[in-house]
Amino acid sequence: MNEPDIKTNLEKIRTTLGPSTRLIAVSKTKPVEMLQEAYDAGQRLFGENKALEMRDKHEVLPKDIEWHFIGHLQTNKVKYIAPFVRMIHSIDSLQLLQTVEKEAVKHDRTIDCLLQFHIATEETKFGLDLDEARALLQSDEYKALSHIRLCGVMGMATNTDNKNLVRSEFANLKSIFLTLKKEFFADCSHFCELSMGMSHDYPIAIEEGATLVRVGSSIFGAREKH
Ligand SMILES: *Cc1c(COP(=O)(O)O)cnc(C)c1O
Repeated sequence: MNEPDIKTNLEKIRTTLGPSTRLIAVSKTKPVEMLQEAYDAGQRLFGENKALEMRDKHEVLPKDIEWHFIGHLQTNKVKYIAPFVRMIHSIDSLQLLQTVEKEAVKHDRTIDCLLQFHIATEETKFGLDLDEARALLQSDEYKALSHIRLCGVMGMATNTDNKNLVRSEFANLKSIFLTLKKEFFADCSHFCELSMGMSHDYPIAIEEGATLVRVGSSIFGAREKH
């Protein structure tokens, strides 16, 4: 496989972003040299889906990088990223949120989080539905948390060439976002993030209102399956 031209790829994607969408470069499985190349091309937001991999990359790369955790997060791994992670996109349970709180307290930080929703037709994707999110947000346990800040929602569309299906799933996530905003976060200006869109569908996500797109292979090249 040819080496990807990371700088050119980033520039190409950046021209498609509107003023209200930011690009997260998803660098999972890729070596730090490639992240450094993206950094040198001006990229500051990076996404990873393994806690230890993120910690190791954070240790050696410039400290003004914003690290976004986008994968399924096991509670026993939160401690590795709690000291520095900028945002956790994949909150899918109260228990995980409580663990993030506990680790955030240890580091005297407030950690920004997104609630992950199941919007795809596929069975395999993680995430909450609207009623589960409501139950979480109404619980006394949630209300007791003081070191996490919910900033919005995240979702993954079905992996398909059916653009209408993908578009309707993104529209559904936006409507979930607006519902939660109205019911629970009306006075919170920080509840403003809609994280959706990957390499094959980010242009649709931008049209449907994404504020954060998570793009990997279109920047760094295809990943080895592992
Ligand atoms: C890997 C991953 C991405 C990026 O996928 P690409 O198809 O390589 O752009 C985005 N979001 C999540 C949650 C991922 O795990």
